[in-house]
Amino acid sequence: MSIWFFTEEEKMLAESVRAFAREQLAPKIEHLDEIESFNLEGFKKLGEMGLLGITVAEEDGGAGMGAVAATLAMEEMAAVDASTTLSYLAHSILCVNQIGTNASKEQKQKYLPKLISGEHIGGMGMSEPGSGSDALGMLTKAEKQADGTYKINGSKTWITNGPNGDVFYIYAKTGPGKKDVSTFIVEKEMQGFSTGKKFKKMGMRASPTGELWFTDVKVPEANRVGTEGSSVKAMMRNLDIERITIAGISLGIARNCIEVATQYAKERKQFNKHIGAFQQVQERLTEASAWYEACRALTYQAAKTWDMGLMTGKDASMMAAKAKLQSAQMATQVGLDAIQILGGYGYTREFPVERQMRDAKLIEIGAGTNEILRVIIARQMLGEIADELMSG
Ligand SMILES: Cc1cc2nc3c(=O)[nH]c(=O)nc-3n(C[C@H](O)[C@H](O)[C@H](O)COP(=O)(O)OP(=O)(O)OC[C@H]3O[C@@H](n4cnc5c(N)ncnc54)[C@H](O)[C@@H]3O)c2cc1C
Repeated sequence: MSIWFFTEEEKMLAESVRAFAREQLAPKIEHLDEIESFNLEGFKKLGEMGLLGITVAEEDGGAGMGAVAATLAMEEMAAVDASTTLSYLAHSILCVNQIGTNASKEQKQKYLPKLISGEHIGGMGMSEPGSGSDALGMLTKAEKQADGTYKINGSKTWITNGPNGDVFYIYAKTGPGKKDVSTFIVEKEMQGFSTGKKFKKMGMRASPTGELWFTDVKVPEANRVGTEGSSVKAMMRNLDIERITIAGISLGIARNCIEVATQYAKERKQFNKHIGAFQQVQERLTEASAWYEACRALTYQAAKTWDMGLMTGKDASMMAAKAKLQSAQMATQVGLDAIQILGGYGYTREFPVERQMRDAKLIEIGAGTNEILRVIIARQMLGEIADELMSG
């Protein structure tokens, strides 16, 4: 359903992504989930549709759209296939959007064309084995050499598109301080770069997740994005748009689960009555529908606020955190409720809801866990008091 502030362009985008998802993603997702394999053909089609650089300025070869459009694309795609949507998010929001927002003209000219066409797959490396929630605790180091190049050593983990990516937007420490973080564009062919384990996962199984290893990777200075040691702000700002757009994945999952469960409640009979006549079934459906609508309003409000630049800094972060915190929990619960309404069938792979519930759970962990999002919100609400326990 449209929200009053969606533009004609955004509505058309939603329709075309919906058609794409039905035609290109729906026929394959069950099998790809089963064998844990990526829909490369579908991904490349997104390039043909001009969606891989959705937030990049038109002058840089992108679609020139904003967070509302990107969230709509996520919602429509994830209603069918959340895995491909997660890989699309890692590519378009975590890698391409960051290059479009922060990189130099030369870097954009070098990397964006192939990333936007789909010839190259992008990813972003922030998390490490010892630093997930505590992202600034990263240990990967980039040391400047006498010839001006950087030598990167360390590893990243849980990287979406890690096993199949070509270009990575990598954060690394260039000094001893917690905030001495710099960004480098790393290509998979660079000497000393390798990919480690590909993880087997509970959900999002058609979105490859893996480790990246850096052993004396020599990266030219020209591949450093921005000035040395100044990446924290851009990294955090990207987390905000990531949280808004990933909430769109939760919305898509929940919407389809509600549709499937409602249809089932209209068809399935027990005790000679449609199960939709039972008030306990109605309670699940109505609560799911109301919570979904509330999350949808909150998420698109956050996206619109982002696009209009109405909120910046910590206020914008709190808004994004609220949208993701609620949407992620909502989608997992709605997935569980849909399974319950479908009874035995809900627990089997005859219907998509068990896959969608498995996929939904990831959004409570990736891009900031529920707990970390609550910390962000509490800090804005309570100020220093929120950190009293941490400071002893
Ligand atoms: C499928 C998948 C894809 C991912 N894709 C990417 C990617 O593309 N790029 C990338 O950089 N990362 C990616 N991640 C990593 C993801 O962002 C991290 O998993 C997430 O930030 C949590 O970090 P962690 O797993 O180390 O958990 P931890 O930080 O170890 O947390 C463990 C538990 O402790 C809790 N906890 C931690 N600190 C606090 C606190 N201060 N207060 C209360 N509770 C706390 C957490 O909420 C959690 O419940 C991905 C992860 C997954 C699973």
